[in-house]
Amino acid sequence: MKKVSFKTLGCRLNQYETDALVTQFHQAGYQVVDYSKHADITVINTCTVTNQSDQKSRNTINHAARKNAGGIVVVTGCMANNHKEQLEANELITYVVDNEHKSSIVSLVDAHFKGEVVHPQSFPGDVFGFEAVDQSLHTRTSIKVQDGCDNFCTYCIVPSVRGRAVSRPLEEVLENIRRVVDNGFKEIVITGVNIGRYEYGQYNLERSIEKMAELPGDFRIRISSMEPDGFGPDFHKVFQHPKMAPHLHLCSQSGSDKILKLMRRMYTTSSFMEILNTFRKHSPDFNFTTDIIVGFPGESKEDFAETVRIAREAHFSHIHTFRYSRRKGTRADRLEDQVAEKIKSERSEVIRKISEENRIRYMQSMIGKEQQVLIEKLDRKGTAHGYGEHYLPVQFPSSDGTRNIFRKVKLKKVETSETPFIHGLDQSFSP
Ligand code: SF4
Repeated sequence: MKKVSFKTLGCRLNQYETDALVTQFHQAGYQVVDYSKHADITVINTCTVTNQSDQKSRNTINHAARKNAGGIVVVTGCMANNHKEQLEANELITYVVDNEHKSSIVSLVDAHFKGEVVHPQSFPGDVFGFEAVDQSLHTRTSIKVQDGCDNFCTYCIVPSVRGRAVSRPLEEVLENIRRVVDNGFKEIVITGVNIGRYEYGQYNLERSIEKMAELPGDFRIRISSMEPDGFGPDFHKVFQHPKMAPHLHLCSQSGSDKILKLMRRMYTTSSFMEILNTFRKHSPDFNFTTDIIVGFPGESKEDFAETVRIAREAHFSHIHTFRYSRRKGTRADRLEDQVAEKIKSERSEVIRKISEENRIRYMQSMIGKEQQVLIEKLDRKGTAHGYGEHYLPVQFPSSDGTRNIFRKVKLKKVETSETPFIHGLDQSFSP
């Protein structure tokens, strides 16, 4: 039995595709081993969204090739699309497989071990050609509903490495959910590149989620990262369904309308805040997290002050902060007024601090309330670790040592350690 290991960089969509490949290799008779172990095949699912991601991908490729001397190294993911020739010239790499052909990697490896000389492009390309996940490296599983993007934000390389926006047939999505729920998954994360643009026949994202939530079974639905455009004014109503997790990662990117325009984002700061206010009018504890880019070309002190204001006023419980990274082939790369790296670091430090303050404040505001916590792990002390529906990390003494189940937990006290979490008390057995 050949051993295969995986390393995934980047977004939740990449994680989903790795999970699906884990399942396909498992079903094809390969032994899936941890990345730290020696393997006959190593699949590296790369990311190219920033210069740092490229560097991380390169380091991982070199590390994997050295660690598995004599094994085959398959490099896939967005860097395989963005730097194909460079990677194909790297002798440490056996196959470079672009995103479109990622779902046929098992067939490629099978052919390799049969001694056939094959090219990844000779297999069918299907961005939705993945199996329902039965083997996963995670407790919750993602469901890919969409791929590609037509927005062309000026800083973003994704449209050129993931292609045009395409939506997966809704029936396929529903069947995928039925199967992963049958496989025991309790939390489904809806993912894609720009899922707000989902459209299949008469179904837009809102209508499709309603269909997903109607499916039988003890599971909840979480939406992964979203752009603030593409959904209708009633989107908040979808979250009133008991299966829906009241948390949204909505990418704001900047608090300055001047910078949003230069980024070619399709909203203003006030229309963005309107979305948050509408959601919170109907669900005051609704949890918003976000992405912010600092140091975009032309970002003045005043523009940054606007971003700081929004980072505070929006009460994001977590902010992923990115220093603007020049990407060849994007329009922003040709803009003047590029911001110095030193200023980018200073500004990202400011946002990082605000994010930490917001996080503790949001956690404090939830003390005394209850969460349905999905238990992801149990430590040696018998403490259960998991997330509540509001995407809060909670730890509590476990009564029966079972993983992958929901427990009703009362939130007791915030632990303001390096990685803050909330101490809770299991209410499942209390009257
Ligand atoms: S919406 Fe913009 S940032 Fe998001 S993937 Fe598309 S082009 Fe990139």
